[in-house]
This record gives sequence, structure tokens and C-alpha cells, in this order.
Amino acid sequence: MDKIPPAVSNLEVKYTKLFINNEFVDAKDGSTFPTEDPATGENICQVSEAKAADVDAAVAAARKAFQPGSEWRKMAPKKRGVLLNKLADLLLRDQHYLASLESLDGGRLYSACFAVDIPSCADVLRYFAGWADKDHGSTMPMEDGYFAYTRHEPIGVCAGIIPWNVPLAMFCWKLGPCVSMGNVLVLKPAELTPLTALYMASLIKEAGFPPGVVNVIPGFGKTAGSPLSRHMDVDKIAFTGSTLVGRQIQKDSAETNLKRVTLELGGKSPNIVFADANIDFAVEMAHVAVFFNNGQICCAGTRTYVHEDIYDEFVKRSVVRAKKGIVGSPTSLTTEHGPQINKLQKDKILKYLEGGVKQGCKIECGGGEIKGKGHFVQPTVLTNLTDDMTVSKEEIFGPVQQIYKFKDVSEVLKRANNTKYGLAAAVFTNDINKAMAISNGIEAGTVWVNCYYKFDPCLPFGGYKQSGTGRELGQYALHEYTQVKTVAIKL
Ligand code: NAD
Repeated sequence: MDKIPPAVSNLEVKYTKLFINNEFVDAKDGSTFPTEDPATGENICQVSEAKAADVDAAVAAARKAFQPGSEWRKMAPKKRGVLLNKLADLLLRDQHYLASLESLDGGRLYSACFAVDIPSCADVLRYFAGWADKDHGSTMPMEDGYFAYTRHEPIGVCAGIIPWNVPLAMFCWKLGPCVSMGNVLVLKPAELTPLTALYMASLIKEAGFPPGVVNVIPGFGKTAGSPLSRHMDVDKIAFTGSTLVGRQIQKDSAETNLKRVTLELGGKSPNIVFADANIDFAVEMAHVAVFFNNGQICCAGTRTYVHEDIYDEFVKRSVVRAKKGIVGSPTSLTTEHGPQINKLQKDKILKYLEGGVKQGCKIECGGGEIKGKGHFVQPTVLTNLTDDMTVSKEEIFGPVQQIYKFKDVSEVLKRANNTKYGLAAAVFTNDINKAMAISNGIEAGTVWVNCYYKFDPCLPFGGYKQSGTGRELGQYALHEYTQVKTVAIKL
């Protein structure tokens, strides 16, 4: 890859208003809220705050764009693909600015955002652009005198509610299949990271999407998210965030219009390392599995299970590796670990560590905050853990690796599955039988064998158990944004 340019300094924030009907507008009551740079704790700017009346306006704009006979409904499916491809081009055109903005607003590593997130977002958009004119129904075998077929039709007005940890990626994962299949979208970014979603909105307009097809309304969960998930004119809601809020959204849908719901929720993913694995590689991958994005990843491999024969050596090397990571400004090209998203999240992590120590776990390294500006936590490794400790059961969402010892396949499978979550898992081994036993037996939507975070637009992603329902990415995502109509004709 070409050299990554330094992040844009003195970044100018261009878009701070709600995006409804292809226009940037103030909130109806004029409300705004501040968004903060997590690396310094300083306010970046004020952003318009959507509330129920703005949600209504965005949903109405989306509904209008979806009316039969509208430009969007009449558009040839392949043209929707052309628009998505154009948007991918624009994302890459503005890669430098967007990566800098994502880093400023969310504390995400600028280098990772530039080199990985934005190219992957463009790939996702292109993947779904390709599907726009390829997902079709079929004809059915019927007795003489009848002809029957199915149509895959868009669902209608879809709402997307996304978290703050990888904002651009979450936006594209929702946008791609939604508009590829002919739906319209109202997206509510997380209140902690509204800026790149608004910039994306400007690119959506520039790409040529008709007014109302995509609307972006920053706001808070209770005052914007909830009116959206309870809205009677929203046909589907695609949510990514915590299991707690996911449960509420499921309830909101049930209590209102039974809108379709897909949920991408939390995780406590096991990463199982057998004694025959390449230990250097497994230590590095286990490190990345936990510390990527400072532990703020739903599918982070937080529970590292290591076979007893290599346990001591593995812990030793993991501690050396964790201590090596450079913590600092997310825009610096040499930084490995940036800040946590805010003070609340930092304090939550520190509280988990305090509670863990009280319950008997040992801090091998890290364990505290880094004092000064911003919200930094030291990369931490915990041992002496039992499966019933709070830190073993709950999602910490921070840079905390937990290393457990195991004896054999059946024991580790049972322990790995002893969680309410089921988002992802990994196994490191050179023995195909062990790899298969774990990948077949694990209760998770994704299993990585001798790798971690292997994402691709064609690979479906989603949760078992309380990690969610439905799938994003891949061909499976198309079914989340279409409904099947059966037409039976008497000839
Ligand atoms: P969160 O659940 O607090 O918030 C997510 C979004 O929901 C935000 O936009 C928020 O404003 C909104 N929201 C909050 N209350 C709401 C309500 N009552 N009604 C409607 N919307 C509401 O989660 P978070 O703290 O932003 O993100 C972290 C969580 O997201 C973690 O649990 C993480 O595992 C999960 N996550 C999951 C995936 C996945 O693909 N499974 C990906 C990223 C993050």
C-alpha cells in the first residue's frame, strides 16, 4: 500500500445539521448538542439534535421517496447499483478527510481508518451495488392451468440505529443492502459520533441519490432513537448496539406496528489456543483480537483460553506484547492504542477492573487509567480468573485481555459456550480435528480458524443467542431488506 499521509490538522467540520430530504436543516426546536474529541476531552462543535418532530420529518421524507411512481421507485435496479458505486468512489476520493474526521470524533486510529475502514466501506458499497439487479424471485412448479412466481420486494422505510465504535463501517453495512434492494433509510448515528455520518450524507447527495432516499438525524437514544423505533410509519429497524437497548427496540416494535427488527448486539467472544498452534502467531493474534480499537469492538476476543501446556509461556509473551503497545493520540501514525470513547466508558472499565481484583483476579500488566487529557486506559492483561466472575461474563468494552487455562476440547467448548452471547469465536491449532470440533460445537455466528477479524463483504455477520438476530453483509443481508411476494395465476 502507498504511504499513509499524516492526518489532516486543524480539521474543518463542514456538516453539523440534520440531513433530511437531501437538505441540511436545523432541528425544529433549534436544539444542538456538543460532540467531543475523546483524545483531549475538548468539544469539537455543536451538532443539531433530532427529537420526535425531526424524526417525523425524516420518516415523512423517506416515505415520500418510497411512494409508488417516485423517481426512486421507478429507477432501474442497476441504476441503484451505479449510485452505490459512485458513492464508493466519493468515499475513496475523500478518504484522507474522512479518516481524519472519524479519528477526531470517535478516537478511532486514523491510520487504521485510512488504510482499512474506508477501503472496506467502499468494498461493502460495491458488493451491494453488484446485487442491485441480481436478487430475484423464482417460478414455482404448479399443476396445469396455473403459473406462479415470487417477487423480492423492498420492505419500505427502514431505520438504522448505530453505535459509536466504528461509525462509518456501521453506516455502510446498513446503507448498502438497504438501498441496493430499493428501500429508503433514516439513519440515526450515535450521539457520541455524529460527524462522519453527516459528511457521508453530503456524499450521498453528491452521488445523485434522490431526495428522501437517505436521511441522517443525529440525536440521543431516548429522544431520537426511541421515537424512531416506535414510529408507526417505519417498516423495519436495523439496530447495532448493546443487548440492553436491543431488547428495548424489540419491545418497541412489538408494542407499536411489529416492524421487522434485526439486531447486532454485544459479545464476549472466546479465543481458544491449543498447544500445537504457532505460539508467536497466536499471541499476536490474541493481542489484536482484544486490543483492536482499544477493546471497543463487539466481536473482540476478550476471553483467551490457552491450553495448560503452553499457558505460562503464553501469558508471559502476552504481557510483553501488551506492554509494547504505544498508547497516545489516535491521529499519530505510530500510535497503537487510542482513547476510550468518553469518561463514562473509561470509568466503567476501571470499575470492572476494581471488581475483578476484589473477586480474585490478578492484573499482570496495566490495570489503570493514563492520567492527563482524554480518556485513556492502559492495555491490561488479567489472569487467575474463574468463569463465574463478573469480568468473565460481562462485556467490558475496553483494552482488557483475560487469559484462562484449559485441558481439553470438551472442557473448553463447554466453558466457551457458557455465556449469554454468541457473536464470534476463534480457534488456533494445526490439528484439523480440533479446529472442526471447536468450529462445529461453538455457539457463535462467526468462527475464525487461525485468524481473527477476517471480514469480507461476502461473509455474513451476526449473532447467536443474545448477540442478536438477523445477518449483515453477504447474500443473507439481502433477505433482511426484502419481502417475498407470491403471485399465483390461474391461466
Ligand atoms: P448503545 O446500545 O448504548 O447505543 C447504540 C445506539 O442506540 C446509539 O445510537 C444510541 O443513541 C441508540 N439508543 C440508545 N437507547 C435507545 C433507545 N431506547 N431506543 C432507540 N435507540 C437507542 O450502544 P453503544 O454504547 O453505542 O455501543 C456499544 C455496544 O454496541 C456494545 O454492546 C457492542 O458490543 C455493540 N456493537 C455490536 C456490533 C455488532 O455488529 N454486533 C457492532 C458494534 C457494536
